[in-house]
Amino acid sequence: MHMEEKTECVSLSPLGHPTPSERELVCIFGTGDLGRSLGQRLLQAGYRVVFGSRRPHNCGPLPQGAQVKGHAAAAQSAQLVFIAVHREHYDFLESLGPQLKGKVLVDVSNNQKKDLYPEANAEYLQRLVPGASVVKGFNTLSAWSLQNGSTDANRQVLVCGDSAEAKQGVVELATRLGLSSLDRGCLSSARELEDIPLQLFPQWRLPLRLAISLTASFFFYLLTRDVIYTYATQGKDVSFRIMVSLANKVFPIVSLIMLTLCYLPGVLAGFLQLYRGTKYRQFPDWLDHWMLCRKQLGLLALCFAFLHAIYTLIIPIRYYVRFWIGANIVTQLKENRTSEFDNTVAWRSDSYYSLGILGLGLFVLLGITSLPSVSNALSWREFSFIQSKLGHLTLLLCTAHTYLYGWDRFLRSSSYRWWTPPGYMLCLVLPTMVLLLKLLLISPCVDRSLSRIRQGWERGQSGGPAGAVGKPLLL
Ligand code: NAP
Repeated sequence: MHMEEKTECVSLSPLGHPTPSERELVCIFGTGDLGRSLGQRLLQAGYRVVFGSRRPHNCGPLPQGAQVKGHAAAAQSAQLVFIAVHREHYDFLESLGPQLKGKVLVDVSNNQKKDLYPEANAEYLQRLVPGASVVKGFNTLSAWSLQNGSTDANRQVLVCGDSAEAKQGVVELATRLGLSSLDRGCLSSARELEDIPLQLFPQWRLPLRLAISLTASFFFYLLTRDVIYTYATQGKDVSFRIMVSLANKVFPIVSLIMLTLCYLPGVLAGFLQLYRGTKYRQFPDWLDHWMLCRKQLGLLALCFAFLHAIYTLIIPIRYYVRFWIGANIVTQLKENRTSEFDNTVAWRSDSYYSLGILGLGLFVLLGITSLPSVSNALSWREFSFIQSKLGHLTLLLCTAHTYLYGWDRFLRSSSYRWWTPPGYMLCLVLPTMVLLLKLLLISPCVDRSLSRIRQGWERGQSGGPAGAVGKPLLL
């Protein structure tokens, strides 16, 4: 038996990671969803697994190769014990103090709500079993992801605990399961880790709120100008425009504004550094927060750009459009006239579509490179070239696309219904401003000053690198 175990040790696990040096035994309390998934994953990685259960003879199907015993017997044989039981049922662990003495207990539990209990589950567990070393970990992974193999988004194990040795053991185990680990400090950080699974898209909240408010504001603005105005002044019901025409006006407007909002904080940060004459002072919190959600702003902007592209593609098959083309042909036949081909209009519409397509193409590239699996494969220089240089080019193309849409309508008084400018005109204000400010920043004399500041130069210093003056706060 021993020989057989040694032979198995040198091979790779089905997950492609080295198996444990000896076939270590790991104990799991609880034969529920997480316990079973974890057990299966451990077995695949070459561990031996023993489950501790209230009903060892009647606990349902378990991963093949795992043993099952009563809690006390199971705990006795392993050095590391996963507590895959809900916190409400932890009481029974108190009586297992002697069997769990000196063991590493991994608390994987989560709660239904924040601040449900006065102390973190892991701290409570440590209080119940003071002789053991409790490590909080694995709670941010789901049973489903453990069973189905790790993906980029779901392969990090956050651990915290007071014993460095115990944490090291858990980190090594996670590595053998093909997961990466991050040490989040002492057991007092357990509450933070327990709150993570309760968060619902924390970084998406602001961008989503912004997208919803912009969509709602522009929808009502355009509804008033396009539908209510026509009804009030001509008595015509054009409410059918709400579904496609209005949507196809609102989406590109929101997309362009949100794309601009990705680049505005960078420009503001540049001017702030120029004004302060240093890069070593922290940006205001609002600017930091804004910069941190640029990826989400950009991805939402890309979604709106896609919707605009799809709505544009269906224009030729719309009943309204087909009706007017047919009616126009009949009118021309009846009046025996042919409309002239206008070269300028042809240039304008082709340029408009071409810039839109190029802008969308680059926009997709920005979206793809913001995905962790792709950005991880790029060097910092490549990433910043795409996100900054190509990003500003995308903004330029999309802004030019919108200017071409407006063309000479900017000068027509009929465009200003009820003295209000069309939506696309409003949405051009911000991108035009950002592009002009960016142009100013990249002009040779400003760029030279900003580059020096970003390399560590500080105004008022004798010209030496600021690294000598203080610890850099921002790069
Ligand atoms: P579950 O399916 O309800 O299983 C819990 C297990 O605990 C049961 O199968 C049972 O095993 C044991 N148990 C139930 N009542 C007990 C009691 N009174 N005394 C002792 N043991 C009892 O729950 P789960 O989804 O596996 O979750 C287990 C823990 O992992 C929870 O703390 C949860 O927050 C955490 N977690 C779960 C997931 C997930 O995706 N499911 C993800 C992260 C963290 P026996 O019948 O064998 O004793």
